[in-house]
Amino acid sequence: MTLKGARERRVRTGGVDLCVAELGDPGQPTVMLVHGYPDSKEVWSEVAARLAERFHVVLYDVRGHGRSTAPRPLRGGFTLAKLTDDFLAVADAVSPDRPVHLVGHDWGSVQSWEFVTVGRTEGRIASFTSMSGPSLDHFGHWIGARVKRPTPGRVGQLLGQGARSWYVYLLHTPALPELAWRGPLGRRWPRILQRSEKVPAGDYPTSSLPSDAAHGAWLYRDNVRARLRRPRPDAYAHAPVQLITPLDDAFLSERLYDDLEQWVPRLTRRTLPARHWIPRTRPDQVSAWIEEFVTSVEGGRPAPVADGRHGDRFGGQLVLVTGAGSGIGRATAFAFAEAGARVVAVDRDAEAAARTAELSRLIGAADAWAETADVSDEHAMEKLAERVHRDHGVLDVLVNNAGIGLSGSFFTTTTEDWRRVLDVNLWGVIHGCRLFGARMAERGQGGHIVNIASAAAYQPSRALPAYSTSKAAVLMLSECLRAELAGQDIGVTAICPGIVNTNITATARFTGVDEAEESRRRQRSARLYGLRNYPPEKVAKAVLDAVAHNRAVVPVTPEARGAHLMSRLLPGVLRRVARVEPRL
Ligand code: NAP
Repeated sequence: MTLKGARERRVRTGGVDLCVAELGDPGQPTVMLVHGYPDSKEVWSEVAARLAERFHVVLYDVRGHGRSTAPRPLRGGFTLAKLTDDFLAVADAVSPDRPVHLVGHDWGSVQSWEFVTVGRTEGRIASFTSMSGPSLDHFGHWIGARVKRPTPGRVGQLLGQGARSWYVYLLHTPALPELAWRGPLGRRWPRILQRSEKVPAGDYPTSSLPSDAAHGAWLYRDNVRARLRRPRPDAYAHAPVQLITPLDDAFLSERLYDDLEQWVPRLTRRTLPARHWIPRTRPDQVSAWIEEFVTSVEGGRPAPVADGRHGDRFGGQLVLVTGAGSGIGRATAFAFAEAGARVVAVDRDAEAAARTAELSRLIGAADAWAETADVSDEHAMEKLAERVHRDHGVLDVLVNNAGIGLSGSFFTTTTEDWRRVLDVNLWGVIHGCRLFGARMAERGQGGHIVNIASAAAYQPSRALPAYSTSKAAVLMLSECLRAELAGQDIGVTAICPGIVNTNITATARFTGVDEAEESRRRQRSARLYGLRNYPPEKVAKAVLDAVAHNRAVVPVTPEARGAHLMSRLLPGVLRRVARVEPRL
């Protein structure tokens, strides 16, 4: 397999011939992608194609892999010193006058840590993006620190990583890995990757896999034991580093990077809910973060630092919030903005949406746009989805928040009242999930949908039949969708706020009373909500936490949490409370 549109050349170094592929304009900054184990440069095909639109992209098969030749003898042919020689030879061939931006995954990252921390490469590396592959020196010090001062937590970390490294022990056994890879394991590996890592089927891995994996065992044998036993004391990075940590990596604990700031003075952290093979499973996010990082380093600007709560998780992500012109929606847009996301603020009130977008930019959003749409209008929502997908791409996070209040007994609630509240509160959510969720699922790179329901979803009340019904439907829709999308790494959360001090009371409809009484009730409920004074910012925080931890149902205020517990343990009590007529 060759990479589509790539120009290939061979670089001779230290007795091996390296197969080097180039894409994009050589006049642009060079981004060099180094693959891991058991892989060849084709693991990068999706990321390389995206980056080639902006950069000169260079990939090479590590010695003994893909179409590069293997050293003879194999033993001692894969030391980090030799791999550093290879990197310098490729860098000199493809970018003799300018330092390169290095990107490594798995063992590609392990060896790139060596490149970026040894003196002889200084001036040749402009930046380094590391994914799922620690520095062996940092790892050695990490182990040493935990052995020297073994608190229960630190022993747990050691044991956890020790268990995740089971395959490293196996790779140190003689001949067995070679036999397995050239036999049944090599044949089954593509299916294993699809099942356990959710790597899409296709032309990856390539047919060289068995010999790549057999040769690559020497990467471990030549380096791991020696380095972990005697880590270099001066393994400091001489270029800015971006660390992308997949949170569900079966082979590496995120705790491994706890002490990284001591080795890397300029560190940007990114996390994403994914497994080990992110160049295959999350190419959009990975390329977007590389592009942002490389562009800022090239522009002489400080590399982006993940700010705000969950900045490492949401920085650069595309987030759309409906009903973002006020209350919980606006606060949620701001919280994502603070975390460095790209925010699309949607409201039926154009001015309010524009204000949210403008403030989001000031607060720290990577970018922000305002959109006007009535979520209950299917056609308007279709147009909105078309515009957003065309101009900004597929959403990473969708927050269906727009909603209206409606209070009054069942027999005073007209069909028109029912229609209005279901149209906005339920159909608005259905349109959002359908139009944006479908594209998320189609992209196949994960995402998250948040639906703002209410404590009224599980707490019955004689005064809120229509509103509670709409919210109960949103809660159940969220649960069903969560089950349906779990296999595609798309989380779905229902947020159940409770009483929150927003403008909702000013616009809520009260049925069965004349206008003067309706206005009096609005004022009175606004006063009550004001007295309770639970800020929408706390709901926004709950939204970000829920996405970060992929929670299913989140009651927010203490009373919402209490009612949630009662609905499970003592539903009879809630039923009795539901009979009480609220005095407004
Ligand atoms: P809010 O301050 O009134 O904000 C809601 C925003 O959504 C407003 O800007 C509103 O615009 C907009 N909106 C309403 N209908 C829309 C539509 N059809 N299309 C597009 N935008 C629309 O209310 P909130 O308290 O933040 O409510 C947000 C969500 O939280 C709602 O789903 C609500 O049911 C839920 N919730 C609120 C509470 C609470 O105590 N506040 C409790 C539980 C659940 P207009 O101003 O023009 O109406």
